[in-house]
Amino acid sequence: MREEVVFCPFCEIEHTVNLVETPAQNEIKGQLINYVANFFVCSETGESFATGGMIDVSLLAARDAYRAKNDLLTSSQIKEIRNKFSLTQDEFSIILGFGEKQIARYETKHIQDIVHNDAMVSFEQSLYGVMQKLWRAGNKIKKTTQDKVIEAVNLLISQNQAENCLKNINATSSEKNILSGKTAFCFNRIKNMIKFFAKDIDDMGITKTNKLFFYSDALSYQKFGKAISGLQYVKDTHGAVPKGYTHLTEIKGLDVLVEPNRDNTQPTFTFTKNPGYDFEASLFSKGELEVLELVKNKFLNTSATKTSAIMHEEEAYLKTKDLDTISFDLCKNLKAFK
Ligand SMILES: [Zn+2]
Repeated sequence: MREEVVFCPFCEIEHTVNLVETPAQNEIKGQLINYVANFFVCSETGESFATGGMIDVSLLAARDAYRAKNDLLTSSQIKEIRNKFSLTQDEFSIILGFGEKQIARYETKHIQDIVHNDAMVSFEQSLYGVMQKLWRAGNKIKKTTQDKVIEAVNLLISQNQAENCLKNINATSSEKNILSGKTAFCFNRIKNMIKFFAKDIDDMGITKTNKLFFYSDALSYQKFGKAISGLQYVKDTHGAVPKGYTHLTEIKGLDVLVEPNRDNTQPTFTFTKNPGYDFEASLFSKGELEVLELVKNKFLNTSATKTSAIMHEEEAYLKTKDLDTISFDLCKNLKAFK
């Protein structure tokens, strides 16, 4: 129990009172929520009272208890996310496309809806998405803040959360799963496949990279009944894309150039050509190395647009429904490698 000297409304003088924490219950949005409330107890009269600030703290505790119970970010978790990127409440609101004062409300008075909650959760989960939203916000975010966000993104990339993200998204990949080409997810192979291609290819933007992965895995499956990376592929409007592909550009130790796009709405991510990469050939079988070589040579001088167009003609793409995971059963007759 803590003691404080405050003005007591019962004795109408300042004196020492006890600060008490007690379990309380409140109804929020139709649910009974248990939380911890703070108040003072006057030792003279035994009456309890709270100051305005304490009531706010208790209400915040009640709202956070509601959030925790309903799997929503608490006010301090929201604050933590924006602090990670050195953003003020207003800046975080703008970047997320909310009303300018929305984050301030969430950190103090209001409970966020699920749509806004998920937008904040996924903001943190995709560094690619962070950069995308930063470019979109354009000059609504000051240059110094932009630099701080970019610095934070680079720091997080160096902490290498990409591996965990990719692994979680492709968690069902296994030697038995046809959706991963009967191959278990292997981060080291994925990283080295990028090194392999980026040693020689000039324009390895994310679109082209996605296709290089798809063809490497599909061709390996066609030849040996086993894909290489253990990634799964989804039918996207741009063709087959590895699940969680945006994290590919976040892998530590790879050189990525981030630039604003020509129409300035979205940034582009390109693996920089780096002949100095120490590609670990021993991770791959002789047959797999041949496949990687075939894929590289096939698309070495093919533009991303043309590469996508070729991919769109594949049975694996045509016979899969939008946003479904592509089965490697459909990768046995690749047109590009006839
Ligand atoms: Zn008193």
